[in-house]
Amino acid sequence: MIVIRAPHGQRSRGLNVVKNRKGRLETGLLTFAWFAFLLPLVWITTPLLAFADYSLRPRPFIAGVLCLALGLWLFHRSHADLGTNWSVTLEVREKHQLVTHGIYRHVRHPMYLSLLVYSLGQALVLPNLLAGPSYSLAMALVFAFRLRPEEQMMLEAFGKDYETYRARTKRLVRGVW
Ligand code: SAH
Repeated sequence: MIVIRAPHGQRSRGLNVVKNRKGRLETGLLTFAWFAFLLPLVWITTPLLAFADYSLRPRPFIAGVLCLALGLWLFHRSHADLGTNWSVTLEVREKHQLVTHGIYRHVRHPMYLSLLVYSLGQALVLPNLLAGPSYSLAMALVFAFRLRPEEQMMLEAFGKDYETYRARTKRLVRGVW
């Protein structure tokens, strides 16, 4: 994920931010998400979380690997389509364009979907009750508190265009929600 994101992050950081909605809640959520993302490293490198280990079974493991692969592919596709309009937080940049093509034609939040699918993969391949689901919990919390303010920000920035886009697309799963 870090390797896929790095070049896009570098390009978008070169553009000034004109609107920022990063409040205390968002900062707290992002910090928690980083902690949850890195928890598997603690599990790998120390015995601290060993008390929550369980034995791995082949079927969940295979399903998990498939989720990781699908999540990474979606993560790559959404970064490629969003281009320099990407931000780690709630921001609108100079020359920001509303992206409605590629994978954004189908759903409004494909990157969040990719992170959810990836985190589900992590939960299935790591046989530890804390390190496994930690990222799923963090992502569920981030998205629960972020979708509404993000859409509000986009609505203020793009007005009618975003309204039309929102009316013809679903949030995460095409035709469902
Ligand atoms: N929610 C989207 C984007 C995540 S990155 C997704 O899950 O794919 C977050 C940033 O992307 C936000 O700060 C916002 O500025 C920008 N963004 C979200 N949707 C966008 C769109 N359709 N076009 C352009 N920028 C968008």
